[in-house]
Amino acid sequence: MQAVTRPRDYQTIILFSIVTLGAMIGVPLYAYHYDFTTLDWTMFAVLYIVTGLGITVGYHRMISHRAFDCPGWVKVCFLLAGGWALQNSALKWCGDHIRHHAVCDENDDPYNALRGFWYSHCGWLFEKGDPGANAKYDGKLRKDPLIMWQHRYYVPVVLSGLALPFVVGAISGGWMGGLSCFLLAGVCRTFLVLNSTFCINSVCHIWGDQPYGTKDSSRDSWWVSLITFGEGYHNYHHMYLRDYRNGPQWYNFDPSKWLVFSLSRVGLAYNLQRRSS
Ligand SMILES: [Zn+2]
Ligand SMILES: [Zn+2]
Repeated sequence: MQAVTRPRDYQTIILFSIVTLGAMIGVPLYAYHYDFTTLDWTMFAVLYIVTGLGITVGYHRMISHRAFDCPGWVKVCFLLAGGWALQNSALKWCGDHIRHHAVCDENDDPYNALRGFWYSHCGWLFEKGDPGANAKYDGKLRKDPLIMWQHRYYVPVVLSGLALPFVVGAISGGWMGGLSCFLLAGVCRTFLVLNSTFCINSVCHIWGDQPYGTKDSSRDSWWVSLITFGEGYHNYHHMYLRDYRNGPQWYNFDPSKWLVFSLSRVGLAYNLQRRSS
């Protein structure tokens, strides 16, 4: 069946253009003229880790796949951290993701890799989606009051995440300190976390090994794991969806798995799911 081309989503196109131009032109220009401080780089690293894990552990493994449970306040922390990554509310992100697994490589797959690298990387976001497309998949999510709370207040959540580096930078260095920290730890970090996440939908469905099965286009890519906290072992993940690990071997680089396991040791995560074999 021919894939349907939908109307363009100009709001998303403009937002992504601002982030991309800011990161690729604004950040190097600023660095050339003024240079970034140690505080800027520290905030950049902290927010890359916090927001990246908010997506991989929070949005992906906990909410989309119910790979483990946790207390409500821990879930709120993950919902805030995931929201700061500017990848949409958990309701939308996880609804899309559950659909991706259910109809992988088919027309209804929101980031169908058979439509090419750019479509699965980010092109799919630039088309208006069918508003009812996730109805079959997000029923459980809609019954969760914390997920619905984050969905309702998604814009203030995003703004708080962008304000944070500005405020931290401004406290230490005034307006210029705020701008500098915002550019590196806000704009540049958002651009990099977005693109590392996108690589899972594009690279990990086009290049890599398929040691666990060939029922769909998913592939393992160790180097994508290095920038996505372990999500590159995507072939394993597609075969064993609910496993809290994406890299099942002890030597696999999977910091998301390490975080969930560490939380479980101090009682902040429980009911960890593993492949039963
Ligand atoms: Zn998944
Ligand atoms: Zn996938």
